[in-house]
Amino acid sequence: MMDELARRVIDWHDAHGRHDLPWQRPATPYRVWVSEVMLQQTRVATVIPYFRRFMERFPDVRALAAADVDEVLHLWSGLGYYARGRNLHRAAQVLVDHHGGEFPATVEAVEALPGIGRSTAGAILSLGRGERHPILDGNVKRVLARYHGVDGWPGRSPVARELWAHAEAHTPRERPAAFNQGMMDLGAMVCLRRRPLCAACPIADGCHARAQGCPEVYPGRRPAREKPLRRTRMIIVRDGPRVLLERRPPAGVWGGLWAPPECPIDGDPAAELQRRFGLEAEPVGEGPSFRHTFTHFTLEVWPAYLRPAGDAAVMDEEDGVWYNPGTGDRRGLPAPVSRLLSALEEP
Ligand code: SF4
Repeated sequence: MMDELARRVIDWHDAHGRHDLPWQRPATPYRVWVSEVMLQQTRVATVIPYFRRFMERFPDVRALAAADVDEVLHLWSGLGYYARGRNLHRAAQVLVDHHGGEFPATVEAVEALPGIGRSTAGAILSLGRGERHPILDGNVKRVLARYHGVDGWPGRSPVARELWAHAEAHTPRERPAAFNQGMMDLGAMVCLRRRPLCAACPIADGCHARAQGCPEVYPGRRPAREKPLRRTRMIIVRDGPRVLLERRPPAGVWGGLWAPPECPIDGDPAAELQRRFGLEAEPVGEGPSFRHTFTHFTLEVWPAYLRPAGDAAVMDEEDGVWYNPGTGDRRGLPAPVSRLLSALEEP
């Protein structure tokens, strides 16, 4: 017999859930995967145009695997958390090289792919193949934490384990995809982070948090932690419309993306350019600084502007490029760098 919560969620989903999201038509494992990865940390309305563009350019795993990572990151520009785009590309190559371009049969094998956690693996196999696997994304965590009154921050393992156990117990054999989609929709449309619409909720009867009169207390918040501040000098060398960019190392902040070179805040930008690129340049001014917030720290960027002292050196593509934003060069740029370069173009 179907679990009472599951039955109510599925009935509610049939009548009120979302059935027209672009990744639901059709809901193939590939499309579900790309959408799930894009939706981590990003809202549905923001993701939809990115998803459409991505599918137009990379309609299947093989197209994605064959692409240049720069093009993948270019289509990702603005979504943030670029490791997601790089992992998507790497995982597509693993799927093609080792699994014949298909997702493997077990949830453990899917979870072993780069960038795929337990919930995304569950979503790929349940929403994409109709198999019975639980999921636990942010929306589902909220619904379950409130329904069962689970205390504590879900980032802590004992709390996560308890929530997974509830998700596992509720996921039905019949129509697991409708149940999982229904739980996500319930979290996104009814069990809102602030001011949940309990009067419209199909599982309000059994909800612990509602009975206590304090749904917003769940799930528990992450313990507050002060973010450290890092400062860097961004060296912006302009040669007419062109700006010197280098590819950042694959690991770390903005890994694999293209950005102006940097040096320590008290370093000498001209000496740095000479040392690293053999480029003679003279300072023409400094910036206003700006800040960009990452998950674990805040970066304060101090732009220093220079121009080549003689002929601009020819760059080896490995080291750097003279990037001209007006020529349609499709490179992955971090959003703050894009903004900075656009501001340079303004009269
Ligand atoms: S009753 Fe309210 S708090 Fe409980 S699951 Fe429904 S919307 Fe969330």
